[in-house]
Amino acid sequence: MDIDLARAWVQAIAAAVGRHKDHLTQLDSAIGDADHGTNLDRGFTAAAAVVADLTPDTVGAVFTRTGTTLISTIGGASGPLYGGAFRALGQALDVPSAAPQAFAAALAAGLESIQKLGTASPGDKTMIDAYAPAVAAFDERARQGTDFAAAAAAAADAAEEGMRATTPLQARKGRASYLGARSVGHQDPGATSTALIFRALANTAANP
Ligand code: ADP
Ligand code: MG
Repeated sequence: MDIDLARAWVQAIAAAVGRHKDHLTQLDSAIGDADHGTNLDRGFTAAAAVVADLTPDTVGAVFTRTGTTLISTIGGASGPLYGGAFRALGQALDVPSAAPQAFAAALAAGLESIQKLGTASPGDKTMIDAYAPAVAAFDERARQGTDFAAAAAAAADAAEEGMRATTPLQARKGRASYLGARSVGHQDPGATSTALIFRALANTAANP
């Protein structure tokens, strides 16, 4: 992971969120307040513009600015959660380039930030159900010595599997939890956007 890849990833997330905005909002209309797509589109469009104008010395600077921008532009729960995660990634990567193992550790710091702020656990039907398996898959591949792109592809696959596995769960955190048993049978919007974020990383790393 270097500065160019960091910037390209944020821009790829913005593009993917733009393409899937309506789907994310549709998912959030079933078990939330129908703003997840517009929330993330606003945030990542702003972040992509900010990092395009940035001449950073470190990978971390790209992610810290991304996180700060998400926090200040996204209204809903996902803003501070994703914003805090990117800021944690930024803090962990105060280097011009990071090997897969260092990036795995940064992803773990991002997960820790989401869990600290949101106090959700795996199985609560949140973004964590996609994020946690993605971090574990990336870390496993990095430990095996796989290259960055292959580790990112494994992370994206794991995130998508985790996303699909949220459908039968009952929500225990966030707005969807107000629905109780009626949240069962719907895929979680935040787990879906997390899968998009990791797929964007895999695609960007494969075609830098
Ligand atoms: P809001 O719920 O405020 O409208 P969004 O619609 O942007 O915010 O985001 C909703 C998503 O945020 C949910 O689908 C879920 O994945 C995630 N989320 C909500 N609360 C939490 C939490 N406490 N911990 C982790 N993720 C959460
Ligand atoms: Mg919402």
